[in-house]
Amino acid sequence: MRGKSQSLACVQKQVKYMFLQIGSLAAILFCCTRKSRASLPVMGFPPLSSPPSIAIVGGGPAGLTLMRILDVHLRDIDPLRNPKVTIFERDANQHSQTDQIGTLDLHTYTGLAAMKAAELFEEFQKHARYDGEELVIADKNGTELVHMHAGKGTTPGVEATRPEIDRATLMDILLASVGTHRIIWGKKLTSVTEDKKLCFADGSIFGPYDLIVGADGTWGKVRPILTSVRPRYSGICGFESLIVDPDIKHPAIAKLFGRGAYFAFSDGKAMMAHRLGSGNIKLNYWIKSNESFHSDVMKQSDGQDDVLRDTLHDLYTDWLPILRKCIDVSQRFKSRALYELPIGDRWDHRLGFTLMGDSAHLMTPFSGKGANAAMRDGLDLAGAVIESLTQDKSLDECIKSYEEQMFMKIEEVQSLTMMNKQGMFRDDAPVGFMVDMMDVIAKAKGKDLNKGVLAWIPVKKMARLVAWVIVTAGAWKRRFTVL
Ligand SMILES: Cc1cc2nc3c(=O)[nH]c(=O)nc-3n(C[C@H](O)[C@H](O)[C@H](O)COP(=O)(O)OP(=O)(O)OC[C@H]3O[C@@H](n4cnc5c(N)ncnc54)[C@H](O)[C@@H]3O)c2cc1C
Repeated sequence: MRGKSQSLACVQKQVKYMFLQIGSLAAILFCCTRKSRASLPVMGFPPLSSPPSIAIVGGGPAGLTLMRILDVHLRDIDPLRNPKVTIFERDANQHSQTDQIGTLDLHTYTGLAAMKAAELFEEFQKHARYDGEELVIADKNGTELVHMHAGKGTTPGVEATRPEIDRATLMDILLASVGTHRIIWGKKLTSVTEDKKLCFADGSIFGPYDLIVGADGTWGKVRPILTSVRPRYSGICGFESLIVDPDIKHPAIAKLFGRGAYFAFSDGKAMMAHRLGSGNIKLNYWIKSNESFHSDVMKQSDGQDDVLRDTLHDLYTDWLPILRKCIDVSQRFKSRALYELPIGDRWDHRLGFTLMGDSAHLMTPFSGKGANAAMRDGLDLAGAVIESLTQDKSLDECIKSYEEQMFMKIEEVQSLTMMNKQGMFRDDAPVGFMVDMMDVIAKAKGKDLNKGVLAWIPVKKMARLVAWVIVTAGAWKRRFTVL
């Protein structure tokens, strides 16, 4: 029995090695083919007839990045001619903003580029976790198809790095940089008028403004003035929880998940673990199901964690015992459904209004690019405003150009995110997902596996076979191993 298990492990090791190369290559190629498409214009301030007034609705990563970059790059302008920028935020104070549990990896040409333009990169580096780049993709048996180690091919300062930072810490940095007193808290926007005024839930009305920027996330209230397209349910909802102090209390779980991210996919379900700066582990349980599934389960459990744990055990019944143990040792359960905007969605430009971040291009989190794209919008939109001030162009012309570039750039990101979502929740995931990755690798190299000569080479069939051998060997190995 032991010999059989060892030879299976040996075969598995060989084929897994091939996939590790594929996984690493895909990620690195994807990073390296991303190009910076916008840069801030050279400073120099001609006299202005009247400085524009700008209202940013929403103080998330998008809105805060925009304000900070404007502050930094317009700080030398005569204060009397500086545009007046105000953020209106629904939350009552900054504590609800910095209380969000989660971690984000910032990417070179988006999140990191924005932090650099915001002169916050040094501050970011104090909190960045380069060991958080470790990534495992596995199945329900814990069979690893990809294991990217931090520090191997991903070194601090090198273009393809994706350092992690806790979302709350990032928000702290951004909030401190703009000054919390510059945000008008407790202002929940309900609508925007044609004459560019903002109407809030408390009955107050502000404006008119020269430019209203919708940075108010998924259900943004600026968006309806530009388009009737609203986010739609993505088909995925689920739960999140926290494992506190895993290194001390649950060392086997801590070891399995490592320092970065561990994603397991099978049967239309996912278990995704992320290490946080505190050492705690955040878990997401995503399930392909109807829109109300998560809220129905929460209602049934009526706030009793044990009832919710039982439901999760039913859902993940045949998953590796150590993965199911995570359910038992988790706390602080929450639920949510995921929404998305259609790929390539755009609106007709309209004088005095624009959108950024999730409000403009909401995606599921399955490519980890939403906050990065939001911050990149902050950089690009700031660039547009600065360009209008420094190069004697109309603000409207510059905003229109920002929108056109954003539409072009984001479509690729939305497509990748959609492909990841579909791949991760295929019935044959993670095998089918890994096969889909072949297309990403080919695309990064400027090739199309489905066209021309390449269509005759059964690359994807071979990849499927290799992945199938790995997971089948893993399933057999699990039969002979007690974990
Ligand atoms: C589970 C999960 C994991 C994720 N992981 C990643 C990741 O690893 N990497 C990544 O890049 N992205 C990730 N994302 C996506 C990322 O969180 C979002 O893309 C990002 O927060 C968008 O920033 P934003 O500023 O546009 O919107 P938000 O962060 O939603 O901020 C919007 C702000 O507007 C305020 N607001 C909302 N409505 C109103 C109103 N009516 N009036 C006034 N203010 C209002 C809100 O309070 C909030 O402060 C993840 C998302 C989820 C759900």
